[in-house]
Amino acid sequence: MCGMSVRPSARASSFTESVIREMTRLAMEHGAINLAQGFPDFPAPEEVKRAAREAVAADLNQYPITWGEPELREAIAAAYRRSYGMAVDPERNVCVTCGSTEAMISSILGVLDPGDEVVLFEPFYENYGPDVILAGATPRYVALREPDWTFDEAELRAAFSDRTRGIVINTPNNPTGKVFSRGELELVAELCVRHDVVAFTDEIYEHITYDGARHVPLATIPGMEDRTVTISALSKTYAVTGWRVGWAIAPEPLMRGIRTVHDFLTAGAPTPLQHAGAAALALPETYYEEIRREYAERRGTMLRILAETGFEARPPAGAYYVMAGFRGLSELDDVTFAERLTAEVGVAVVPGSSFYSRPELGRGVVRFSFCKRLETLEEAGRRLRKLAGELR
Ligand code: GLN
Repeated sequence: MCGMSVRPSARASSFTESVIREMTRLAMEHGAINLAQGFPDFPAPEEVKRAAREAVAADLNQYPITWGEPELREAIAAAYRRSYGMAVDPERNVCVTCGSTEAMISSILGVLDPGDEVVLFEPFYENYGPDVILAGATPRYVALREPDWTFDEAELRAAFSDRTRGIVINTPNNPTGKVFSRGELELVAELCVRHDVVAFTDEIYEHITYDGARHVPLATIPGMEDRTVTISALSKTYAVTGWRVGWAIAPEPLMRGIRTVHDFLTAGAPTPLQHAGAAALALPETYYEEIRREYAERRGTMLRILAETGFEARPPAGAYYVMAGFRGLSELDDVTFAERLTAEVGVAVVPGSSFYSRPELGRGVVRFSFCKRLETLEEAGRRLRKLAGELR
């Protein structure tokens, strides 16, 4: 017999399990090509893998300094100086975490209080809502609208109130591919300064942009250096999503809260992989040019396949996802469509409703991830051509 107390907490019951990660399980169950969860199926750079092997061989196998091995924190500081001219003190401003997932939740728990309000743009990456709810804070949503996923200035202004303490900015954006412009970030900065708000930025796709678009970190916009938590990770840039090495960069007063939460949540990210991370961040500029070129090719292949198979999609400006309308193919709702596409066609995608506070906003849409070898994308294309039109 279960008593009344044998149940999950009210907090944990106030949101559901990740649909993205659930689709990965469904893909495995059906042997489907996984274009749902965004992880690469191509190898990580040889130098980076070698550095990991060498770190294990050198017995760097015990707990790291909780907020990160000095070598990696120094490499992070050097990389932000080189790429963005940001002054980051590795002793005071960096916390190495278990992926950007942990960086975001440690930052939100370390900075926000129950009752605070947090502005989130939607469609959103599904972690931010639960992160905010676990902190006892309340999300306020502002719409990004097609075709170019801009937001309405008046709507953003109206979302800020006396209770607003945070805003999450994910650029380049998952799932839309939007790359926030300097002008848009300046408006965000103006509102953050006026309302004394902290920005949490998820910049994990910082090196994946197309057609000359350049990533601008919000922390580099005047007024934001002292009120921005900048988050990124090794995962996407170096194709090592399973290593779980990310980081948060923040001004010292915020960093104190972030490091405290991080310490008690995880005690630290994997030591040898942190050392490999230092090697990754030291790769030359040509590495980033090369991954941009390869991603542009993958994007082109994905868009061609979607056009040929009756989906409606526009080229994303950054990241490696594309939101695709399927109303030309099927009247099913997005969840049923995604499940049947996985089980019957053999291509897993994420239902559009997972990215919205109100599911109806994503009903005719699914998200494709194209961080895959061209052969993988072409095989998905063959499957979609054969069967997608039959899901009625
Ligand atoms: N960012 C990935 C996606 O959107 C998922 C990351 C994760 O599951 N932790 O698919």
